[in-house]
Amino acid sequence: MQRFEIVVVGAGPAGIAAAVSAAESGAQVCVLDAGAAPGGQIWRGGAERHSRTAARWATRLRQGQQISVQQNTQVVAPLAAGELLVERPDGPQSIGYDRLILATGARELLLPFPGWTLPGVTGVGGLQALIKGGVPIKGRRVVVAGSGPLLLAVAAGLRRSGAEVRLIAEQSDWARLLAFGAQLPLDPARLLQALRLRATLGRTAYRAGCWVEQAHGAEQLEAVTLRHGAQRWREPCEQLACGFGLVPNSELAATLGCAINAGAVVVDYAQQTSVSGILAAGEVAGIAGVEAALAEGAIAGYIAAGRPAQAQPLLARRAAARRFARRLEHTFALRAELRQLASAQTIVCRCEDVHYAALAEHPSWRSAKIHTRCGMGPCQGRICGAATSVLFGWTPESIRPPVAPVALATLITTSSAHSINLEEHV
Ligand SMILES: Cc1cc2nc3c(=O)[nH]c(=O)nc-3n(C[C@H](O)[C@H](O)[C@H](O)COP(=O)(O)OP(=O)(O)OC[C@H]3O[C@@H](n4cnc5c(N)ncnc54)[C@H](O)[C@@H]3O)c2cc1C
Repeated sequence: MQRFEIVVVGAGPAGIAAAVSAAESGAQVCVLDAGAAPGGQIWRGGAERHSRTAARWATRLRQGQQISVQQNTQVVAPLAAGELLVERPDGPQSIGYDRLILATGARELLLPFPGWTLPGVTGVGGLQALIKGGVPIKGRRVVVAGSGPLLLAVAAGLRRSGAEVRLIAEQSDWARLLAFGAQLPLDPARLLQALRLRATLGRTAYRAGCWVEQAHGAEQLEAVTLRHGAQRWREPCEQLACGFGLVPNSELAATLGCAINAGAVVVDYAQQTSVSGILAAGEVAGIAGVEAALAEGAIAGYIAAGRPAQAQPLLARRAAARRFARRLEHTFALRAELRQLASAQTIVCRCEDVHYAALAEHPSWRSAKIHTRCGMGPCQGRICGAATSVLFGWTPESIRPPVAPVALATLITTSSAHSINLEEHV
């Protein structure tokens, strides 16, 4: 077993800032990340390619004398206290730590509607990731729908890649969006960002109070039905990118015993979780964007390395980023109509093919899981769990390891450490 003073899980902005701050304070650090390169979601494919800020952080990570960065390494479960089970292409291994920083980020919230499982329908960030991975989009007609600022960032990226963005459909209404926009001049950096996006998007149609009701196609997406007030129409397209915000990846934290509230890891002013020696930073501790992730990561890194004074100047930056996040949350709160989009026959759990009607008769996530196998497929409820929380108000009572699909050899190690019944997993 390898052992480190500080282990950071996740090499997105929060994990990079945590590792760099801890190592530059003299600690010996290991970063474990499931991706092929550091960067997380926003700096996917290598931070250097994205912005000057991203490149600076990437350089500090690369040059860190005391940092071991281990990519393609998925943390799947806690083992004994102070020990994690990781899965690598060459098999399972255990990693020990004195202090742990969780920076596992977030995933998209996808809500079911008729046709959402058709090829050609993806999440908003999902389509962005495909394009960053080299999937061609040039000349394809795309509808971007759902909610939040990610819609604009992704639509701009699609245009730059040569896609024909037919429409951006934002479910929030103009009253909320205008109230939000009215405050932007107080924040020149974000105002500039918004103006740049506007320039890239040119005349791309943007409709507020608008959402997708249905996706159509025989084998592949051919069109979507959009709703805007009393108006409904069919928009032909080959691609629909649809996402309703983000959900923290808090499952690993839950298996470590950290308190969770509204899906996010609970942290104090020093990014400490409810479990001594475990800190959390970035979107796993609440959706707040890249500025908050960087500030929180650096704070967690300094605190874990025993340098609280170094964290002090970052507190104001974190507070400002969190205030901005609260405004975003209010602006893009989901409307009630989105809970009514699925029909009786709409699949909600894609892994186990469970329809809406089969779930609607159950009082809780646990009951639905036992009777329908909802949430028991390869994604372990990462997608349908968040969706049923919006649709039915359910919350999972417990999270069990492993937190990601694993090879049988890894599963055997996990099951013996946690007394898991293997039959439930195969
Ligand atoms: C799909 C998607 C696309 C996004 N695109 C943009 C964008 O274009 N612009 C923008 O401003 N914001 C974007 N965001 C929001 C952005 O992610 C945040 O603002 C910010 O990057 C959060 O940083 P983070 O470090 O907290 O998490 P992330 O950047 O999500 O990094 C988390 C890292 O942890 C790793 N990880 C998670 N669990 C494990 C585990 N068990 N074991 C090992 N590694 C693990 C992941 O592989 C990932 O590398 C996007 C979010 C998502 C979900």
